[in-house]
Amino acid sequence: MINILVLNAGSSSQKSCLYCLDEKELPQETQKPIWSANIDWTATSNQGVFNVKANGIKQHLTLESNDHHQGIRQMLDTLIQGKTKVIDNFSAINLVGHRVVHGGTNYSEATLINSDVKATITELIPLAPTHNPAHLEGIEIIESILNNIPQVAVFDTAFHSQMPLENAAYPIPYQWLEKGIRRYGFHGISHQYCANRVAELMNQPLSSLKLITCHLGNGCSLAAIKNGISIDTTMGFTPLEGLMMGTRGGSIDPAILIYLMREHNFQAEELNHLLNQESGLKGISGISSDMRAICQGIKEGNQRAKLAFDMFIHRLHSCLGSMLTSLGGLDALVFTAGIGENSTIVREKACEALSFLGLELDLFKNNDSPVGVDISSSDSSIKVFVIQTQEDWAIAQSSWQLYNSLSH
Ligand code: ADP
Repeated sequence: MINILVLNAGSSSQKSCLYCLDEKELPQETQKPIWSANIDWTATSNQGVFNVKANGIKQHLTLESNDHHQGIRQMLDTLIQGKTKVIDNFSAINLVGHRVVHGGTNYSEATLINSDVKATITELIPLAPTHNPAHLEGIEIIESILNNIPQVAVFDTAFHSQMPLENAAYPIPYQWLEKGIRRYGFHGISHQYCANRVAELMNQPLSSLKLITCHLGNGCSLAAIKNGISIDTTMGFTPLEGLMMGTRGGSIDPAILIYLMREHNFQAEELNHLLNQESGLKGISGISSDMRAICQGIKEGNQRAKLAFDMFIHRLHSCLGSMLTSLGGLDALVFTAGIGENSTIVREKACEALSFLGLELDLFKNNDSPVGVDISSSDSSIKVFVIQTQEDWAIAQSSWQLYNSLSH
C-alpha cells in the first residue's frame, strides 16, 4: 500500500487528509481518506482550532498557538498518536501532494517539487498573494518534519494551460502579454475532476464531449471543456474575474477603478480589499456572502438580498452564454461546489436560460439532493449533472500517477 498525504492550504485554513492506496492499481472510484483534518487559523485571534476525523471518531481540538509550523506539526501528530492514530510513524507516509493555486503557464500537470518548482511558486506570489505563500510554507514545513519525502505540486491553473492564446490574451498592448498578463484560470483541479466524472457517468470518452462545468462555491468560475481540454474559463489573470461570488465582485468595468483612484483617492490595497472582500453577494446584500443567508433574506422580504440573488443569476447567465458560444454546442452542464451541489434554486434559474436550446431540467430530480446523477428530463437535449467535487482525491490521484511513473 502507498500512503499519500494531501495538503490543501487556503488563506485562512489548512485542509489535509491521508489516503491509503493500492501500490499497483489506482482505484477509479473516488476513495475516502483514512484520516482528515481541517485547521481554521482564524477561529480566535491567537489560537487556531482544528477538527480531525479518523477511525470513526471526530475530534475538535485547539492549537497551542497560531504559529503555522507548530500548528501543522500538532495536526500531523494526530496521525501517529491518540484515538485518530492511523500510522505508526511519519516514515509510513510515502508521498505528499499539495494543491498549488498558481503555477503560471509553466506547468500543465502534477510536478515533483524541487528547488526550481519552489522558485516558480515564489515568483508567482505577486499573482496569488494569499495562496502561493501558504503553499510554500506548507511545502517547507513538510520538508522540516518529513525530511526528504517526495512532494508533488498539483496546480489549479494546469487544466487551463492548453487554452488557445486568443482566449487567454487580453486586448491590451502586446508587451503586457509577453510579461505574463493573460488569463490563467483557476479551480482547474475541480473542473477537471468533474469533467472526468461526467464522462464516466455518461459512459462516453471525455475526448468526444462538450461540457460546461460550473464551480459555484465561495469562489465561482465556469469552464468550457471541449474534447477534454479547457478552452475557455471565466476567471482570468487572478481569481477575481468573471462571475459574481461570495465576497468577490467578478468582472466590472476597469474604468471604475480609475475613477475611484482619481476622484476618491483610493489606493491599490483599499481597492484590492473592496473588490475581494467587500463585494459580491456580501457587498450588494449587506447581509452575508453565504447563498443560504441570501435566500433566507429574500424570504423575509429583504430587497437587497433579492437584488444580490438576481445579479448572481444574471451574471451566471451571461457567462454561460459566453462559454456556450466558445464551445459551439453543449452535451452536458455540470454543477459543483457549495452552491452548485446544494442550491436547487440556483440550478433551476441557471438552466432556465438554456431552455431555448431544449435543455429541460427534471424539477423533482433537481429537488432531491442529487449527487452524481443526471437531473435533466428524459427529453432534454442537454444533460445536467450535479457532481460532488473531490479536489483532495484528485490531488491524491495525480500524485499517485506521478509516483508510479517515477518508480517504473
Ligand atoms: P469554497 O469555495 O470555500 O470551497 P464551498 O464550495 O464550500 O466553498 O461553498 C461554500 C458556499 O456554498 C457557501 O458560502 C454557501 O453560499 C454555499 N452553500 C452551502 N450549502 C448551501 C445550501 N444548502 N444552499 C445554498 N448554498 C449553499
